[in-house]
Amino acid sequence: MFSYKNGEFYAEDVPVSEIADQVGTPCYVYSYKFIEDTYNEYKEAFSKIEPIICYSAKANSNLSILKVFSSLDCGFDIVSVGELKKVLKIGADPKKIVFSGVGKTKEEIIAATRAEILFFNVESVDELEFINEIAISIEKKARISLRVNPNINPKTHPYISTGFKKSKFGIEINKAFEVYKDCVNKQGLQVVGIDAHIGSQIFEITPFIDSLIKLIELADRLLNEGLNIQYIDIGGGLGIKYENDEQPLSKTKFANAIIKELNGKPYKIVLEPGRSLIGNGGIMLTRVLYNKIGTEKKFIIIDAAMNDLIRPAFYDSYHEIVTAKQNNSNKDIFDIVGPICESGDFLAKDRQFPSVSKDDLLVVKSAGAYGFVMSCNYNSRPRVAEVFVKGDKYFTIKQRESFEDLIKGEEVVDF
Ligand SMILES: *Cc1c(COP(=O)(O)O)cnc(C)c1O
Repeated sequence: MFSYKNGEFYAEDVPVSEIADQVGTPCYVYSYKFIEDTYNEYKEAFSKIEPIICYSAKANSNLSILKVFSSLDCGFDIVSVGELKKVLKIGADPKKIVFSGVGKTKEEIIAATRAEILFFNVESVDELEFINEIAISIEKKARISLRVNPNINPKTHPYISTGFKKSKFGIEINKAFEVYKDCVNKQGLQVVGIDAHIGSQIFEITPFIDSLIKLIELADRLLNEGLNIQYIDIGGGLGIKYENDEQPLSKTKFANAIIKELNGKPYKIVLEPGRSLIGNGGIMLTRVLYNKIGTEKKFIIIDAAMNDLIRPAFYDSYHEIVTAKQNNSNKDIFDIVGPICESGDFLAKDRQFPSVSKDDLLVVKSAGAYGFVMSCNYNSRPRVAEVFVKGDKYFTIKQRESFEDLIKGEEVVDF
């Protein structure tokens, strides 16, 4: 979906230079076809068991992106009332929404209970009590599953590792059985499932299967106790290729291992993929501002910064960067950095890169997930535009912020 044609970088059938000229830089560009194909790959890989696929909205929650997933019949994993309102606004089926997160507020619990979502993934005993109280007070039953912490090390970056003993997420799996049994006496709750999400950017099958084994074991015990466990939610976390030596699991392999382990048991599998559905479906366009040659280092200074794409600064993550016009000049080693007043403001460190000049257009790849959604206004930089490409057409799906947007809600107090 993103490749060179005759020396020019294209998003589907649109040269990205055209988008940059029209929309300006920096901007994010997403491919419709990528989303459609990748979702269908998931669906096909799992076709034997027809799971409920709930796209993790936090990976990229632009309304147009959500709408595409919804029109493909995909459900949603949400983590806030903002995401709930967004997915309901684009017509998502509440029966395919699951609500995760360790700190759900009263407002969020009321809204999601009233919307009759599929279930809450409850992350603590306190939260469970609170949901029960609220559900009773509004005369509803809240469907719940407990997010258990299976104590699995997914061998990924510590910031995106969530199923390990020391993590803030979930209820320790050996305590979950008792917590579930207590639910029977809670009038506001209906237990329907069990959930785990062990982390993100995972490349091995073993952590997923180790987790699933523990979930099935617990679900079987609960079923024996008369609790009606219908769903096993195995979370998201499938890794994608950012760097050439990374080997993501194929969806087929992943699916087959899950199906095999499930072994005909009566549980409906719920999946919460985020990154793997959209990460490689987006790029960020940015232009060169300056070259700067120091005695120790050479820098390419670009118009995008850590506020636009924080992953390199936050997770030390790698994004492939290429020139929009194929450039065969000799390569040298550069840091590719933004204009922000922070040493952490880089998109690439010690990168082999051809020589570029002012206004050259660069493409930052694999920016579809945790890109725009994590952007902020640091250094009073307006958030950038987002563009959606389908075939030879493209649409601005989020306007670049203006100065008025930047100061919206601020008041000048006249002391
Ligand atoms: C972030 C998150 C996901 C999605 O993770 P990916 O690595 O993007 O697939 C799924 N479930 C929960 C609970 C999450 O917090």
